[in-house]
Amino acid sequence: MIRTFSDLDLRPELLGALTALGYEEPTPIQGEAIPPLLEGRDLLGQAATGTGKTAAFALPLLQRLEKRGRGAGPVALVLAPTRELAMQVCEAIHKYGKDLFGPANGARVLPVYGGQPIGRQLRELERGVDIVVGTPGRVIDHISRGTLRLDGLLTVVLDEADEMLDMGFAEDIDAILEAAPNDRQTVLFSATMPSRVEKVARRHLRNPVRIEIRREQAEQGVAPQVRQSAYVVARPHKPAALGRVLDVEAPEAAIVFCRTREEVDSLSETLNGRGYRAEALHGGLSQEQRDKVMNRLRNRTTELLIATDVAARGLDVEHLTHVVNYNVPAAPEAYVHRIGRVGRAGREGVAITLAEPREHRMLKTIERLTGQKIVMEKVPTVADLRARRLELTRAALRESLLEDDLDGFRAVVETLTDEFDVMEVAAAAVKLAHEASTGGGSADDDDTDIPQVAARAEERAPYDSTRGGSRPSCGPGGAPARKGRVLEGPTAKLFIGLGRAAGVRPQDLVGAITGESSLSGRDIGGIEIAERFALVEVPEGAAEEVISALRATMIKGRKATVRRDGKR
Ligand code: ADP
Ligand code: MG
Repeated sequence: MIRTFSDLDLRPELLGALTALGYEEPTPIQGEAIPPLLEGRDLLGQAATGTGKTAAFALPLLQRLEKRGRGAGPVALVLAPTRELAMQVCEAIHKYGKDLFGPANGARVLPVYGGQPIGRQLRELERGVDIVVGTPGRVIDHISRGTLRLDGLLTVVLDEADEMLDMGFAEDIDAILEAAPNDRQTVLFSATMPSRVEKVARRHLRNPVRIEIRREQAEQGVAPQVRQSAYVVARPHKPAALGRVLDVEAPEAAIVFCRTREEVDSLSETLNGRGYRAEALHGGLSQEQRDKVMNRLRNRTTELLIATDVAARGLDVEHLTHVVNYNVPAAPEAYVHRIGRVGRAGREGVAITLAEPREHRMLKTIERLTGQKIVMEKVPTVADLRARRLELTRAALRESLLEDDLDGFRAVVETLTDEFDVMEVAAAAVKLAHEASTGGGSADDDDTDIPQVAARAEERAPYDSTRGGSRPSCGPGGAPARKGRVLEGPTAKLFIGLGRAAGVRPQDLVGAITGESSLSGRDIGGIEIAERFALVEVPEGAAEEVISALRATMIKGRKATVRRDGKR
């Protein structure tokens, strides 16, 4: 069992980069995929989104990279479905390999995608690159122009293969692999393994190692007394959203889990800057420092711990009430382990997850694994927060009234009632008490609301536009769109958490809506079906009716999340 990156025999320059990034241990797919990839084996790997597949193929590519003369063609080609993903992968490889040949003498990685002027790409290719990361369309362009040489390729990686095939890149992928040297290594990673992907693997991979990171029942479910909820928040708003959620939840003791040491440090700093007393706990601290932090949590000097999984391993705190996942954990098992820390011995526990839009899919995987619902919540608004604070003040006043040692204060009220109504006197007293307990007003970020975002918002981002008119064009996100009627009057857009992957077609949605609600086909506006969700436009006045009707029914044999589409 691979536990640490050093077990993986990686070059010290790579280990250094990982430490600098704060990665403490390999994710499951990394632990299993890196050794065979280092041996040069072909590989077929399946693991859900957010499980660290990029480093799983990038580290072996970098490990095998040798310092070569300028002008040589690339030794590795990574194909990715979209411009955004190609850029992300490129940045990741760049970070992992930035000191590969000595300080600041890193691997040369070039992103190649449509929509960017081809001139810069040509210049870079001419100067020589080690690794090219591109979308299939633009890569084909370069191959046919003779500007991308494949004869030096040692490895080709198909990243997010399911998405690439969904987007109609099958032929391009075939053509690229046909043009690559026969003795190359071929690596395919995919979040799902439908037969289309299997077919590509059968055709182009040679005796591949197969790795599937199963969503096995790590522990028999989660204690039922754990309340589980999630908030979809865009990355820049996460610290503020976390603060807001902590304010409303008012945990007795909480652990916030982060991915890396850097994230732990920067989040602790941010939270402390916002007036929370947060302590950091990660593998970069000495054992003594860690013990100190743990003791402060145990003896209630601290109520908020920001930690990595490794540092918090085996940690058991009796009075812990809340576990917060600052990101969706890379392995569903980690989620189960984390939330197993609360809800012990019949106490109520709360598990909260902050998910970025792209991680929404991962939440579904976790729900399937645990067999338990994770309730999607809205980040508390400023108004919610005020209401909650007032509620706390009210509760404190009530306690004070019950304790009944107010004699010393009655005289004050009496003198004021000559001039004012008792109600007014009381209200003024509440105001003072409230201001005193909330620190004289609101924290500085309190008056701005955190924007609500839709899950998997980037599925609607424009896709690679390199492919000219060679393929039938699709709607946004490759989604077949049904124009529908232009509805009169105000309309509402509904998000339905099932899409093409579940076999949903426009007629299925029309059928479900007309069958279960009072609407007829003419009342339904445009329908967009993306890979994992669909959007339907209905008259505003019927929105709530349609939402509850669809929630109560099955679409394509499945229950779907249905709600108003978040404003973007
Ligand atoms: P996938 O391709 O499986 O969807 P990514 O490779 O994009 O996932 O990784 C998801 C996130 O996890 C990235 O932010 C990455 O930096 C982070 N990550 C990857 N490996 C590790 C690790 N071993 N420890 C901590 N964070 C990691
Ligand atoms: Mg990926």
